[in-house]
Amino acid sequence: MKNHIIFFSGGKSSFSVADWVKTNYPDDNILLYFTDTMWENDDLYRFIYQAADRMELPMLIHANGLNPIELMFEKKLVYNSRIGDCSKLLKMKVSRDFLKKGIEPPIVKWRNKDRLKQEDFITGATLYFGIGWDEEHRAGPIQKNWQPFDVVFPMIDEMIDNAATLKKYDLRQPVLYDLGFTHNNCNGRCVKAGQGHHRNLKEKMPDEFKRLMEQEHHLKVCVDAYRYIKRIPEDELDADARQVMYDEIDDAYRDYFYGRAVKPKMYISPAITAAPELVEFTPYAFMKKAHGGENKPYPLRQLNADVESEDTQIDLFDIGGCGCSVDFGEWNE
Ligand code: SF4
Repeated sequence: MKNHIIFFSGGKSSFSVADWVKTNYPDDNILLYFTDTMWENDDLYRFIYQAADRMELPMLIHANGLNPIELMFEKKLVYNSRIGDCSKLLKMKVSRDFLKKGIEPPIVKWRNKDRLKQEDFITGATLYFGIGWDEEHRAGPIQKNWQPFDVVFPMIDEMIDNAATLKKYDLRQPVLYDLGFTHNNCNGRCVKAGQGHHRNLKEKMPDEFKRLMEQEHHLKVCVDAYRYIKRIPEDELDADARQVMYDEIDDAYRDYFYGRAVKPKMYISPAITAAPELVEFTPYAFMKKAHGGENKPYPLRQLNADVESEDTQIDLFDIGGCGCSVDFGEWNE
């Protein structure tokens, strides 16, 4: 009996792929595999659980335990469309470590495990991704990165209608699509998304937008403070004293970024007042926007102000967004 593993993202396409595999290989061992960023919309779980139940397939859920905001805090980086490994570390690495090396992540959950047709669901498995014809250029790198597994992309090779698949299982599409998002990842908050995407988030999910705007701001301040301490010369700050200051920053922000506090604690280091010339305020932001021939950081606070003032142009076609599918094809150990 052959093994088939579907990279199940919570999106409509990977759901259609699962149905395609089930229809074509009804007697084989098929697994839905979902890597959780722990930053998802509640309705995503409704969708993946109903999908697994109605297709009568087992589903394995893995998570590394951090969400993208916690990861940025740990790395002291503000991710954007060019920099950022949230999808690599929270999805790609988790799945590679497991499927290629047998390493289980800290969080493991099963749904319908009794529907596995054989205990070993990895050996010789074919992997399936839900990327479509418009992302065909990603197919080669993904296949290369997943060797020696065979990788198949039914949405590229077949004419598959997501709406028909949803209807077949009487399944309601994930709510983020109803709200005009192009994917069902990270509750519409992708740190790699563009102006049009964030404009939609502000309009359709204003509380989430506001929280993300605040998190982006506090991340920037936290990263600035960290880098400031890094710039203090060694002869002015020994390693132990420097570590104490790093720990002070961690203490000031940790509860906030881990969702245990509404605001960060105030962090004012005595050294900042002692060496003000080392203070540099840098405009880190998730987005960039063309300005004077250059791409400059474009914080969500600025987008918010621009949307509200109505006299600054927002590029509604700049959707950008989820690096998840990209990263499955751009991974080096
Ligand atoms: S959807 Fe965006 S924020 Fe979420 S893991 Fe993927 S790249 Fe990161």
